[in-house]
Formats: sequence, C-alpha cells, structure tokens
Amino acid sequence: MNRTGACPRVLVVGAGLAGTATAIRLLHFARRPLEIVLLERRPDYRSAGVAYHRDGNPWDYVFNIQAGRMSVFREDVLDFISWANQEADRRDWPQHWAGHTFTEQGPAPRRIFQDYLDDRLAEARRQSCPGVVLVEADGEALDMDACDRGYEVTVGGLSATGLDSVRSGPLPDTKVVGADHVVLATGLELKDPPFAVEVSGHPSFVRNPYSAAGIRTLSRLPPEATVAIVGSVLSAYDSAGLLLRNGHTGQILLISRSGTIFRTYPGTHEHGVVRLPRPETLMEPYRDREEFLARGRAAWRAACSTVRERHPGIASAIVPERVAKAWEPYLPEIIERIPDEELRLLLDEFATTIAALRVGAVEYTMAIIEHAMRSPEGSVELVVGKVRAITPTRSGRLLVSVAGQHGGHGVEADLVVSNFGRESDYAKVGQPLWRALLGKGIATPHERTGRGLEVDACGTLLDADGRPVGPVSAIGVLREGDEIVRHGRTGAFAFNLAAIKNHSVSVAAHVTEQLELRQEGLSDIAALHPHYRSYASNPEEADRAALEEAVVLEVRRLATRERKKREALDSRLTASILSIGGLPALPAAVSRPDRLMRAVVNRVAAERLNDVSVTPRQLRRQLGIGNVDNPEG
Ligand SMILES: Cc1cc2nc3c(=O)[nH]c(=O)nc-3n(C[C@H](O)[C@H](O)[C@H](O)COP(=O)(O)OP(=O)(O)OC[C@H]3O[C@@H](n4cnc5c(N)ncnc54)[C@H](O)[C@@H]3O)c2cc1C
Repeated sequence: MNRTGACPRVLVVGAGLAGTATAIRLLHFARRPLEIVLLERRPDYRSAGVAYHRDGNPWDYVFNIQAGRMSVFREDVLDFISWANQEADRRDWPQHWAGHTFTEQGPAPRRIFQDYLDDRLAEARRQSCPGVVLVEADGEALDMDACDRGYEVTVGGLSATGLDSVRSGPLPDTKVVGADHVVLATGLELKDPPFAVEVSGHPSFVRNPYSAAGIRTLSRLPPEATVAIVGSVLSAYDSAGLLLRNGHTGQILLISRSGTIFRTYPGTHEHGVVRLPRPETLMEPYRDREEFLARGRAAWRAACSTVRERHPGIASAIVPERVAKAWEPYLPEIIERIPDEELRLLLDEFATTIAALRVGAVEYTMAIIEHAMRSPEGSVELVVGKVRAITPTRSGRLLVSVAGQHGGHGVEADLVVSNFGRESDYAKVGQPLWRALLGKGIATPHERTGRGLEVDACGTLLDADGRPVGPVSAIGVLREGDEIVRHGRTGAFAFNLAAIKNHSVSVAAHVTEQLELRQEGLSDIAALHPHYRSYASNPEEADRAALEEAVVLEVRRLATRERKKREALDSRLTASILSIGGLPALPAAVSRPDRLMRAVVNRVAAERLNDVSVTPRQLRRQLGIGNVDNPEG
C-alpha cells in the first residue's frame, strides 16, 4: 500500500515493445501488491507498435536483425526462437512460414512478434506475485502534473476494465489517472519533412509506409510504375522488397543523401564482441573538424586491420560491426571532448553511415534488392543527393528535386514513398503529451545531442537544471541522446530492441525498489542507495564473498520467470543479506541497514543483467543462469 493506503500504481504510457517489455519485467520483479496500468492510444499497436503491428507489416517484412537476437529477455537469448518454433499458433500463417523452422541466424516475419509479446505478457501476469495486477487501458496520455502521490496523468478517450480511483479531466472525454510512478514508452515520433509540405495529402505520396493505407497503395501499384523512395536506411528496403516480391518491373529509385547501402550479413553471421585498444588519437586535442575526421578515419582503418589480423575467421562484411561495438566503451570519453554544436553536426551528417557500420541487413531482405540493383535488367537504382522538394506535376505525377554533388536534378515518379523519417528533436515533436511536458519543464530536450531527452543513469527525466523531476522514467528512443553520450551506443542501437531490453530491466528494478522503500517509509534510503552502489560493486575483501552471493541470488531472482522459484530465491536472498550484518561503508544513522543493502544489491544485480560488454550467451554463463537443457542459450 502507498502512503494513502492504496495499492501503488505504475502507469506505463505506450504499449509497443518498450512499454510491454517493461510491464513484463515489473510483473516479474514486484514482490508486493502493485497495479501496473499499460496505456495505449492505438489498440492495434498493443504489444507491437509501428514496427510489428499486423496491418502495416506484411509477411515479407522480416526483422532487420537475425531472429536469434529478438528475444525480449537478454539473459535468455533463444526465447523468441523457441517460442516461434514450439509455441506460436501458426494456424493463420501463410504456407511459406507455416512450415518454417526458425534459426538463430535466419529471418522471421516482424508481425509475429506481436503474438510473442502478448504471450510473454500473459505468462508474466500468471506468474506474478499475489496482488500484482496488470490493467490494459486504451487511451492517449495528454498531460501530466506532479502531485503528492507522484503524478496525475490526463488521458483522452480512456477505456479500461478494473481501473479505480479515476476522476474526470479538464477537457471533454478526458480522465485523470493518479500514479505513484509513470514510465514513458511512447516510441518513435513521425517527422513531417519540410520538403514534402506541398504533397502531404497527395494520393501519390506515401508518408507512412507502415500504415494499412500505405501498404495498400504499394500493393495496388501498377507493376510498371516509377517509384521514388526517399531515404536508404533499413525501412526503405521493406518497401522496395515488397514491390519486387509483387513482381514490380518499373524503376525503383532509392534517394539517399549519403549514398549508403547497408551491408548484408552472411547467412552464418553470429553476434560477437571483440576487444580493441582505445583509439587514443581521438582523445587528444585536435585543431578542427577536418583533423578530427582524418584521425577518426585513420583510427577506424587501423582497428579494422587489427580485427582482420587477430580474427581471420570474421567475415569482412562483419568487421565494421565488430569495430563499432568494440569502440562503444571508449566513445563517451571521445564524445565528451566534442563541443555541443559540433557533436550535433557530426551526428546529423553521419547518422546513416554510423548506423550502417553498426548493423547490417539480413539476406532475406537484401538478396532481392541486390539482385535488382546489379543485374542488367535490374530496376532498383541508388540516387545520391539531398531531397530539396517534392511537388506535384500537371500530369498527376510527383517531381522530386534532388541536390547532388554535381548540381541539382529532378526525378519524376508515379509514387513517392517517404521512408520512416522520425523526429528525434523533442522540441519539434507535435504530440500533445510532449508539448505539455516540455512546456511545463517536466521533460528537457537532450542538450548535447538534440536527440531525445535529458535522463539520469536510471532513466529518470531531468529538468533544465539537471534535477530529477520525480517518479517519471523513460524507455527506448526517448533516451537516444543519453545512450550516445553515456554508453557510446550509436545507430539503431541507441533505441532498438537491444537498448529497450536493458532499459526495461533497469527501470523496472528501480521502480519496484523505490516503491517498496517508499511504502516502508524509508525514502531516506531510496535517496541514499545510489551512493553505496559502487561499494557493492567493488567491496572490501572481507565482504566480497557474502556480497557476491547476495548479488548472484538477486540476479537469478530477477531473471526467473516462475513465481515459485522467484519466491524461493527471495527467501534465500533475505537470509543471505541478514547474515552479512553491517558493512563498514554503510552510514551508522540508517534505520534499516539490511534494507539499504538489499536496495544496493538490487541495483548491482540489474547492472549485471545489462552488461553489454559481453554477448547474451557469455552473459548467461557469466551469471550462472544457464539451465540443464540449454546451458549455452
Ligand atoms: C519499421 C521499423 C522496423 C523495425 N524493425 C526492428 C527490428 O527488426 N529489430 C529491432 O531491434 N528494432 C527494430 N526497429 C526499431 C524499433 O524502434 C524498436 O524495435 C521498437 O519497436 C521500438 O519500440 P517502442 O515501444 O519504443 O516504440 P513503438 O513501437 O513506437 O511504441 C510506442 C507506443 O506508444 C504509443 N503511444 C505514443 N504516445 C502515446 C500517448 N501519448 N499515449 C498512449 N500511447 C502512446 C504508440 O501508439 C505506440 O504503440 C524497427 C523500427 C521501425 C520503424
């Protein structure tokens, strides 16, 4: 119960991958009664969001990484594959996929992810502790205000079964929902490209290729039509692939500012991490941008050579990915030396290139596109240049004006697809919730990068002075800028499934721990415990073994999906912590040193689960959570 005697409530805004993954972890982690409200404004996006919902993702839209990397649990890397092979209900699947055996390296249709997340959410609900409940609510969060309890959220069009203590809101059809903690998982924001204002409602312009209407337009297009796709990142290949699979013979132009085409992963590609020395030259003072870029290119080439020499077994298409991953731990230090304005310029100019170095595309998607690009009768062509404007012509077609290196030219097309351009600058995001939160200072655009929002290490929103705004956490793409500067995560890894998995663990662990401490009247400990975290990570020799045992038990509790096993681990953990007694590092005035210790152990355990310096497989072995059937996976 909270301070007012009611069961504490966590309101998760957005039920795409990030919100659903967090709800799953909250259901697993909560040891006491808790109400988790999972709010979604689009019922068809529940457990799916834009990337996985069925109407916008036909069967040939496969994950842009290998199926074996799509488990929602980082510590259980094969979970998605085993679900797809053993548990998925295939009755409505088309023949091609109905008899398919999914492999770690192979493709899988993105749309089946919705069923996977639904199943795992239902399982977590069944396996939650007594009094821990999930309410799936429809409606759009529009505004938020701080209150005694935590935050009051104004929701438009709210519809939910079993949601009590909700009052009428300030506007028609709005309700106010109080929550002890709010988790914002609102996902990608669509950008209105300024170059397309003239054609925004034009029937030959597809603004959202992942909408039912967008898919319909692409599927019904005459095969000989000329199509221009703006952008050449992974989602452009979905639209091009769909057209080609439907027998399209007309020209398909991929218009790209950087001219980047993603590498294709070899069919045998496996995730791996190599160690590389620090790129020292990038940490030394430099005169100007040109010098920095020249050093960057030289260090990059040297690092690629090192990987080739030391790891001859790594396919050449994978080398850039290995280097980009190996440099992640060094990037925060490198980035720290780059002035804000320069950093933003670099990110804008090289975002696509960096994304293409950090991740490849899968063969299933690329084979058909590469064939159409290479063969003499091929119909896919890359056009390098920046789109200046898209305008209607008299004949009803669209003219795309492109500024290239050697001057401008126009491309006339029967259909223009604006590839999924997303808005990363929250000062420009149009949705009412974000306008309200920025207007009230509850959210602050990320200062250094201009991407996403200011958050602390736990994902708590910060105000303009860098102070936590209270119990409000962010998950996923909202933390893009912070991921770049804090963890050196670049490209899609700043916001894709990999980042979301980690956020869901750390936020759910933080939220449940803070709520427990507040309920116990130990808010002082809630405020204190981050300071003792480092001690538990690196304790004095005498305490090392006992603390390590406690952390291992907590890791196993957090990673266990069965309630009974979690409860048994919880009892062992309590006993283990009591047996440690006081630590010299703990302040004498703390009323419940055991409770502070437990909070610290929880924090360290969540960090261990999120260790990205190793592959998920290595992590599993390192944490000692392999099982008898599958010690590796
Ligand atoms: C086309 C596409 C394909 C992708 N494929 C992959 C892939 O294969 N692998 C991978 O790892 N990553 C992929 N990604 C990256 C992708 O961003 C993440 O995997 C993931 O889907 C993002 O999840 P999310 O929950 O943060 O956002 P979303 O999926 O966008 O979910 C956010 C949800 O919040 C809801 N919402 C927003 N505002 C409100 C509000 N105010 N009130 C209530 N609800 C609200 C939205 O309706 C939405 O359902 C892809 C991205 C795209 C665009």
